[in-house]
Amino acid sequence: AENILEVKHLKKYFKTARGTLHAVDDVSFTIEKGKTLGIVGESGCGKSTTGRAILRLLEPTDGQVIFNGQDITALSSSKMRQMRRDMQIIFQDPFSSLDPKKTVSQTIAEPIIENKILKDKKAIDARVRELMATVGLAERLVNAYPHELDGGRRQRIGIARALAMEPKFIVCDEPVSALDVSIQAQILNLLQELKEQMGLTFIFITHDLSVVNHFADEIAVMYLGQLIEKAPTEELFDHPVHPYTRALLSAIPIPEVGIERPERILLRGEISSPIDPPDECRFAKRCNYVCDQCHKSCPQLVEISEGHFVSCHLWENFK
Ligand code: SF4
Ligand code: MG
Repeated sequence: AENILEVKHLKKYFKTARGTLHAVDDVSFTIEKGKTLGIVGESGCGKSTTGRAILRLLEPTDGQVIFNGQDITALSSSKMRQMRRDMQIIFQDPFSSLDPKKTVSQTIAEPIIENKILKDKKAIDARVRELMATVGLAERLVNAYPHELDGGRRQRIGIARALAMEPKFIVCDEPVSALDVSIQAQILNLLQELKEQMGLTFIFITHDLSVVNHFADEIAVMYLGQLIEKAPTEELFDHPVHPYTRALLSAIPIPEVGIERPERILLRGEISSPIDPPDECRFAKRCNYVCDQCHKSCPQLVEISEGHFVSCHLWENFK
C-alpha cells in the first residue's frame, strides 16, 4: 500500500537558557494510507511535539514531512493552511480547547465558517447536525454549552470539529487520557468506526500502551526525543526487543486472559537530560544492559525483520 505520510529526520529543538533542548531528535517513519500508528512514550519523550511538528503547528527545526507525495515543510503558510484541511488534530483535553461561551453548534460551525467551506447559513446548520450525528451527539444538545457536557461528549465535539474539514489524516493526541475508562472505550470505538467509514489515517499518541493495543496497526516507541522501536502491534507485544520497550510492556497493569505476563522490569537511574544530549544511547543511564559501546555512540534505527525497527547496539542479544 502507498505511504500517506513519510517523516524524514524530523527535528524540533528549543533554545533555552541552559542550552538547546532536543525535543524531537532525528525521527523518521512512514505510515500507510488507512492505518493507525500509535506513538507511545512517557511524558516529555517528544511524542506530542512530533505530532505538532508534522502538522507544522510547531515549525520543524529540520527534516521533511512528505504528505501524499508532497513535502509540506516547504509550503508557504497560506498553502499550508489549505493543506491543513487534510491534516487535523484532536487534543487531549477537549475542555480547554473549547470556547466556553460558544454552543455546540457554534463550536462545530466555527471551522466550517473560518475556512469558508460553506457560506449559506442553512447549509452550515445542516452540516453541523450531520456532523453531530456522525460523532454520536444527540440533536437536543445543539444549543448546549461545553460546561454542561461530560468529557466524552466534549471530546465528540473535538472530533466533529476535526471531521468538519473532511480530513484524510488525523493526529489524535491522548484523546482519551482525560476520560473515565468506560468512556474511553466509547471514544476509541467511535474513532475506529470513523476510520473505517472514511478511510482515515491516524497517528494516535498515548502514554498508555494498553490503549493502543487493540487500536493501532503499528506502534512506535519514543524515548527522549527519539524513536527507539517500531513494529506491527502484535509483533511489538509478542517480540519487543529494545530494553525500554520491554520494560514498558512489563508495566502494563492488566494482563489479558491467556497471555502470560512478563516479569516486571524495573528501570533504575534517572532520565537523561534532553538539553544538549551527548552522542550516546539516550537510554544508557537507565538500561540494565549498558556497555562501553552504548556510551560511545547513539545507536541508529535498523530494520531487524520486516517492518520491525530497533535502535539498540545490542539488539541481536534481545531478539
Ligand atoms: Fe541499553 Fe546499550 Fe541498547 Fe542503549 S544501546 S538500550 S544502553 S543496550
Ligand atoms: Mg503530550
